[in-house]
Amino acid sequence: MEFMSNVSSGLDSSKPSLFELLSESQLRDLLEPSVRYVLAVFTQRHPRYLIHIFNRYDEVYALFMLLVERHYLTRWGGSFTENFYGIKRERVLAKDLPRAARAVPDVAAASTRLRRGDVWRSLFLIVGVPYLKRKLDDAYEIHAGGAAANLFGSNYRNDEPAENATAREKLLYYLKKLLRKIYPTINAAYYLSTLAFNLAYLFDKSHYHTPFHFLVNIRMRRLNEADHGDGGRERQGRKLVKLQEDSRICAICENELTNPTAVQTGYVFCYPCIFRWVQEGEEEPGSGKGCCPVTGVRLLGGTEGLRRIMV
Ligand SMILES: [Zn+2]
Repeated sequence: MEFMSNVSSGLDSSKPSLFELLSESQLRDLLEPSVRYVLAVFTQRHPRYLIHIFNRYDEVYALFMLLVERHYLTRWGGSFTENFYGIKRERVLAKDLPRAARAVPDVAAASTRLRRGDVWRSLFLIVGVPYLKRKLDDAYEIHAGGAAANLFGSNYRNDEPAENATAREKLLYYLKKLLRKIYPTINAAYYLSTLAFNLAYLFDKSHYHTPFHFLVNIRMRRLNEADHGDGGRERQGRKLVKLQEDSRICAICENELTNPTAVQTGYVFCYPCIFRWVQEGEEEPGSGKGCCPVTGVRLLGGTEGLRRIMV
């Protein structure tokens, strides 16, 4: 991945390469059929409970992804699969300020962080657009495309409404006809414009790698130090502390160790500091509760697992 990421990014180290973004979208596209397959297997075993979910699979999946992606977007600024690739979404400011971003990464990260509206717009792109496309693809397949249409041309069907058809039937007929006529063009335009944006992104001519990102004014960036909490470090939502260079200094209170105590991960802190950390968490209650302050690993036995060091 490192080799590929050097192909296009030039001097901008936070800009993910097109290859990373394409692998990310391939991974996301794989999720939906994989979940469908697993659900199909379970539905065959327990049809009574799962058949309703399976019949409404597209809607259930979209709703489920809406919840998952909303969590990841608000927490990490990127979708589930983007976060997996270490990529986040960022608002595009009127002017790029690379030196300011290096000097005060916290401030730069705060000003480009996704706002509420950006999260919903991103959700529409991540969940809404694929859902609509699946529905339209299905409708096109049923009403206009399919193997028969490939053989006989798309106009082989003669489903014109009868003279005495209701208004609803007539409307449905014209909608199908419209779909048959314009859907291939829309599809082609979608793929062509994506290709154009991909190429522009590859050659550093555009901030955006798809037309949708251009429309909502959001670009993709690599996650950096400043993204891991507000100045502090975090792991899976748990607050972490930075290890001090001097091993006689406690990483929690940043004073000399009093009553040195080791946790299961091997790090040593003052007894009162680590006891309070493990029992209540630091500052926000529950944020680091029961976890090692340096690695974020959950400690077995809570405060019972703390070991005083006798030297
Ligand atoms: Zn301490």
